[in-house]
Amino acid sequence: MNETASLRARAEIDLAALRANVRALRERAAGAQLMAVVKSDGYGHGAVPCARAAREAGATWLGTATPHEALALRAAGLDGRIMCWLWTPGGPWREAIEAGIDVSVSALWSLREAVAGAAAAGRPARVQLKADTGLGRAGCQPADWPELVAEARAAERTGAIRITGLWSHLACADEPGHPSIAAQLSAFRHMVAYAEKEGVDPEVRHLANSPATLTLPETHFDLVRTGIAMYGISPAPELGTPAELGLRPVMTLAAAVALVKDVPAGHGVSYGHHYATADETTLGLIPVGYADGIPRHASGRGPVLVGGRVRTAAGRVAMDQFVVDLGGDRPEPGAEALLFGPGDRGEPSVEDWAVAADTIGYEIVTRIGTRVPRVYV
Ligand code: PLP
Repeated sequence: MNETASLRARAEIDLAALRANVRALRERAAGAQLMAVVKSDGYGHGAVPCARAAREAGATWLGTATPHEALALRAAGLDGRIMCWLWTPGGPWREAIEAGIDVSVSALWSLREAVAGAAAAGRPARVQLKADTGLGRAGCQPADWPELVAEARAAERTGAIRITGLWSHLACADEPGHPSIAAQLSAFRHMVAYAEKEGVDPEVRHLANSPATLTLPETHFDLVRTGIAMYGISPAPELGTPAELGLRPVMTLAAAVALVKDVPAGHGVSYGHHYATADETTLGLIPVGYADGIPRHASGRGPVLVGGRVRTAAGRVAMDQFVVDLGGDRPEPGAEALLFGPGDRGEPSVEDWAVAADTIGYEIVTRIGTRVPRVYV
């Protein structure tokens, strides 16, 4: 049985908020197209509904990490431009090329697999060449770029591929003023100019993620790739709150209080007894735990709005549940507990959970488990 009816917990996804965020980001990047990044199941929000909503709000591209994520979007009926960038040898090149998905290539091995996939598919592969301009992760090193460009151009001349994009990814866009930003921008310009001199005529050149879309207009080029901001989450505290950035949080995580009980002073709470009640009090059981993506690292710190007040997780977060000290308050079993949301009712934010768990908002929403039903509102 799907859990939607049981009301244990649910992640409400506000697609109107997502559409508004996409529109706001498009305004920030006026003149550039927008790629809605919906990898990792739309950062935990549900890839297909979020992709549809983003398209409705004017996103012309969809982006995923793996080809399987991209193929799932096509299978769900999403047409138009889709790009995926995380390939391993033996990946589903033919299927992706048949589906008209843009494939990213960082090295000769992946270019050659794309060419073979195109032959198997009987149509040219849409290939985007990825440059490592300084992130030190995926992408072709500047020293290897001429060789990759030369072989890609040769494949293009045979009609096996079409080079549709030149792109890269920033390391420190969320740290305004970081010297690597200017260095990467300059390296990107050089690598694009080199490829164009060699005859590459791409449809899109792109570099910017959410923080760059919000704060670095010089990185926008033809297309911005926005993930976290589209979900209404601030990329980094230094950049401001979602409201300050003109964004509205999309996900609200709610649970139903499962038990309310009286305990005496000095009562140990949850595994390891890392919390003990100071006085006679009431404890409330929140029926979500680390199996649902609630970080165990937020034990003793994770905030939740219960009965009109924000309480913190008392003691350890367990696999399926954690406890709050209600200080004598007595919400009814079944009362709503809000772990995070847009804040309209005084509930904590994703950013608050990121601080409590010593991580980033990206990880908080992406980890919300499949046991928590997504409810689209
Ligand atoms: N582009 C690439 C290559 C990514 O890996 C990601 C996500 O990490 C994004 C864009 C979107 O980044 P953000 O969520 O910061 O907008």
